[in-house]
Amino acid sequence: MANKKKTLQVAVIGLGRFGQSVAKTLTELGCDVLAIDSDMKKVEAVANTVTHAVQADSTDEENLKMLGLQNFDVVVLATGSCIQASILSAIIIKEMGVAQVIAKANSELHSKALEKIGVNKIVYPERDSGIKLAHSLMSMNLVEYLEISPEYQIAEVIIQSTFHGKTLKEADLRNRYGINVLAIRAGDTLNVSPQADDVLHEGDMLVVLGRTKDLKNFCENC
Ligand code: ATP
Repeated sequence: MANKKKTLQVAVIGLGRFGQSVAKTLTELGCDVLAIDSDMKKVEAVANTVTHAVQADSTDEENLKMLGLQNFDVVVLATGSCIQASILSAIIIKEMGVAQVIAKANSELHSKALEKIGVNKIVYPERDSGIKLAHSLMSMNLVEYLEISPEYQIAEVIIQSTFHGKTLKEADLRNRYGINVLAIRAGDTLNVSPQADDVLHEGDMLVVLGRTKDLKNFCENC
């Protein structure tokens, strides 16, 4: 029998700019999204772009239970500048047993408090985008990167003339730089299973995985 793919159920609490953008994008990507805010105007603003939108106070445990939050796969807590609401809600949601809780922090201290509560992933958009900008300014061939742990990143790097015409085997990036090539992007074509004899061309893009320090070394020296 064919395996039916389960739709990811996500609740987004707090519909500021960040929460709204997460809720709308997840809906566009095919998730079931429940958007929650204590402000009815914010609820109305997203009502037509998400699966369900409701007015509720996320610091009220009974409210969250009635909404069935315990059954969601992921809860995104985006009540950013209302730090007290964010921390209280995080405690309640973790105690309800939600497997994956992602929260937005607005300061280092806020981030530490969320970490202590056991929130699974903390995003700190102002800091994170500042770090990204600094990285891309320092190495112009680094186009985009994604931190997958404090130590490892996936990055999109423009291939320089040094490697033009070389095969992946000849470039020997794993041995020379300690990085793994996940894909090669040439224009609109993405080769997601690169082979040893695939040839690299200047200006094409490599999607690579490696330790942050190895990627930095690669970007600075290739
Ligand atoms: P952004 O930068 O994403 O625009 P922000 O970090 O400045 O947002 P706020 O706009 O202050 O954060 O808050 C985000 C939303 O969270 C607001 O729409 C607010 O109404 C909502 N909110 C705050 N407290 C609660 C709560 N207890 N329950 C539900 N929603 C809440």
